[in-house]
Amino acid sequence: MNGKSAIVPVPPPPAAGWQEELRGALRRAHELCAAVGVDPALGADSDFPVLAPWPLLRRIRPGDPADPILRQLLSSPEESLEVPGYGPDPLAEAAASPAPALIHKYHGRALLIATGACALHCRYCFRREFPYGAHARGRLQQALQALREAPDIGEIILSGGDPLSLDDTRLAALLTELEAIPHLHTLRLHTRFPIAIPQRVTPALLARLRASRLQVVSVVHVNHAQELDAHTATALRGLATLGPLLNQAVLLAGINDSVEALEALSRALFAQGVLPYYLHQLDRVRGAAHFAVDDARARALCAQLQARLPGYLLPRLAREEPGRAHKTLL
Ligand SMILES: *Cc1c(COP(=O)(O)O)cnc(C)c1O
Ligand code: SF4
Repeated sequence: MNGKSAIVPVPPPPAAGWQEELRGALRRAHELCAAVGVDPALGADSDFPVLAPWPLLRRIRPGDPADPILRQLLSSPEESLEVPGYGPDPLAEAAASPAPALIHKYHGRALLIATGACALHCRYCFRREFPYGAHARGRLQQALQALREAPDIGEIILSGGDPLSLDDTRLAALLTELEAIPHLHTLRLHTRFPIAIPQRVTPALLARLRASRLQVVSVVHVNHAQELDAHTATALRGLATLGPLLNQAVLLAGINDSVEALEALSRALFAQGVLPYYLHQLDRVRGAAHFAVDDARARALCAQLQARLPGYLLPRLAREEPGRAHKTLL
C-alpha cells in the first residue's frame, strides 16, 4: 500500500537429522536476513559469526525485525559499539581454572567445557570471546585428571559450548570416564540443543543417559515462549524422563523484558515439562550492552511476575560476579 514491497523470505530446506541441520545452519548475517525476509542492513557480520539452524529459524515471524528469536541470532551493527564496563572475559574465568577445560569456582560442583561448539550463536553470550582454542580435545584428559584429584566435587556440569555438540560416540566415551570417578554423583547437562535443533535428543541419547549411574539434571536455555513448539515439546518431554528439567533464561532488552513476555515464558515452559530456574542478568561482555536491563527494572519485573504466577513458576533473578563462590541473587 505504501509502495514498499515486502521482502519475500527464502523457503526453508526440508527437515533433516541433527548433524545435517548443524551443517546447514546459516552463518552469515545477510543470509539470515534473506531467510526471514528483513532488510539486510539490520545485520553486520562479526568475529563471533552468526550460527542459525533452520529448526529454530522456522519459529521466526517472517518480515519482523523485532522478532524475539531473530534478535537473539542476528549480529547487528550495535555490537561494534565500545561501552565502558563491557570486556572480553566478564567473569574472569581465565583465573579460576585448575585445568583449562575445568572451571571450578562453586562449592561441590565444577563446570567442564567438553566442546566450544554450540547449536546456535546467541548474540549476548558471555563466552563469545572465550579462548576455546585453549580448551581443545587434549585438554579434556587434563580436566578429567583434575576432577579425579578433587574429591570435593560431586556434581559435574557439562557446559560449553554445548555438550550435545559431541556426537553420541564421543559423549558416551566422556560419560564412561565420568562414571568411573567415584566421588561424582550428579551429571548436569547445560544445553540449548533441544531448542535450537530438537532432533538432537534421540532415543539413543536418552537411553545412554538413562543407563548412567549418575543422577541426571538437565538445564535448558529458553528466553522467549516463541522458541517453544511441538518439536521442542518432544525433545523436552524426553529429557524430563531422565530427571529434573530446568530452564535458565537471560533477561534481554527488547526480547523478554516485559512482565507479559516473562509470564508467557514460564507458562510455555511448564506446558513442556520445564520449570524456570534462573533469570540471569546479562554478563557484561563486549558487544552485548544493547541487551542490558538495569537491576531496578529487573527487580520490578520480577515483583510483577510474582503477582501473576505460582511460586514454582518464578525464576530466581541472579547475576554472576567475578570471584564469588555462587551466583548473586538480586
Ligand atoms: C552457574 C555456575 C555453576 C552452577 O551454579 P548453580 O547455582 O548450581 O546453578 C557452577 N559453576 C559455574 C562456573 C557457574 O557459572
Ligand atoms: S548456546 Fe549457550 S554457550 Fe552457546 S552461544 Fe548460546 S548462550 Fe552461548
